[in-house]
Amino acid sequence: MTAHSELKLYIDGEWIGAGKRRVHRVVNPATGGALGDLPLVDATDLDRALHAADRAFRQWKRSTTEERARVLKGAAQLIRQRVDHIARVATLEEGKTLTETRLEALVTANLFEFYAEECRRTYGRVLVRPTGTRSLVVKEPVGPVAAFAPWNFPIGNPGRKLGAPVAAGCSVILKPAEEAPASAIEVVRALVDAGLPAGVVQLVFGVPDEVSRHLLASPIIRKLSFTGSTAVGKHLLALAASTVKRTTMELGGHAPVIVFDDADLTRTVELLAASKCRNAGQVCVSPTRFYVQQGIYERFAAAFTERLRKVNVGDGLVETTQMGPMANPRRPAAMERLIADAVACGSKLRTGGERQGKEGFFWQPTVLADVPASARIMSEEPFGPVAVLTPFSTFEEAVEHANRLPYGLAAYAFTESAKRAMLIGDAIEAGMVGINTVGMAAADSPFGGVKESGHGAEDGPEGLDACLVTKAIHQA
Ligand code: NAD
Repeated sequence: MTAHSELKLYIDGEWIGAGKRRVHRVVNPATGGALGDLPLVDATDLDRALHAADRAFRQWKRSTTEERARVLKGAAQLIRQRVDHIARVATLEEGKTLTETRLEALVTANLFEFYAEECRRTYGRVLVRPTGTRSLVVKEPVGPVAAFAPWNFPIGNPGRKLGAPVAAGCSVILKPAEEAPASAIEVVRALVDAGLPAGVVQLVFGVPDEVSRHLLASPIIRKLSFTGSTAVGKHLLALAASTVKRTTMELGGHAPVIVFDDADLTRTVELLAASKCRNAGQVCVSPTRFYVQQGIYERFAAAFTERLRKVNVGDGLVETTQMGPMANPRRPAAMERLIADAVACGSKLRTGGERQGKEGFFWQPTVLADVPASARIMSEEPFGPVAVLTPFSTFEEAVEHANRLPYGLAAYAFTESAKRAMLIGDAIEAGMVGINTVGMAAADSPFGGVKESGHGAEDGPEGLDACLVTKAIHQA
């Protein structure tokens, strides 16, 4: 397989081809070659999607948890059966390695299974009242959701946008990124093949601003769920405010990493190098600002640089590749700008810093040392395979550095001291803190940020709760 089979929309239970619609050319980031043409919705399609979501919600909210669990478990099973195909589709259109896309598909299957179970635990409360009267607190699905997913986890992001709302009894209009649509089509296909009733999920692609303005202006949509940059998130929040919609916003990050001088150096370098190169650094929780205590700064910088030099960069479809290309031409262009600025500010380029190869969007794993706070890369999310290293001396100084930015998604700390671990976990302003680990995401734990990294969580019971509203019923 070197190209996508026909790319389609899915509205009101019908797979829809391009016909006379506009199309978007999908490309393979490893070669720049065309993979297929994606149909883009027009206003009539969006109105049809809205009406289908409205109608289906009235039915689906009354479905039993067994019915919802059957669909989610069935889809999980199909994703596992189809894992090799789905992984290949995702690598072709996003670039990351097959190892990564296989894992992403399996994680999505796990998430669907988690929500198949979790939806049975949507409890309410009975309040103590005089005999003959009662007050109930019940949870109900919030209603039709407009969900926007980015390209960096082409299987996982659509999975996250669908699992919890479908389990909660909501309907969804999902707009994944136009740059990596076929993976999302596979996720929706698994749900449809597992028996999802028509109208519960619609899959649309379009001109992003047209789609979001149309959907968020509609009173049918009760919730906005967005993953992407903080700038676009703010714009969508403003649109959602006009009809006071519920929101879950998973926005940008700029994860600090604090390496104390008592850290296990070999293990820390290995974990952070693998995590930095994951999806060529295009991960919202990617470790980025490395604050390393003076006592081990030089040793860490040398070992980390050496490790990144050994990373095998290439086409994600080749099994021996350890890091694929960046997903689109905007990313290497952004790397070029940010790295040139950092070097001009006095940073030392230890390795990388350039494009790789003649075709595709490859960027070398890059280490910048002694980076001053004034460099743009210390404040702007690079979203690429670059680590910026700065020394620090005291605990308080490290905390100040870590909390300096308006972002607060993920943060990491490495220390062998239990006391330091506890204190740093408490001191950092972030939605997620990894101490001696880079593992952040799991089906049963909340994933989300604070400050301008967004609000609300996906995954875990919290992700289900974010799709429910609370109603108090008082009866005399
Ligand atoms: P971008 O800001 O243009 O777009 C980010 C995402 O939002 C894309 O998926 C895009 O399709 C979508 N989008 C853009 N405008 C939209 C609109 N009006 N309505 C609905 N969706 C819209 O940036 P980009 O070049 O695609 O990605 C680069 C930046 O995006 C990164 O620097 C990073 O900050 C952020 N990003 C974050 C995540 C994440 O997981 N939080 C994922 C991908 C991208």
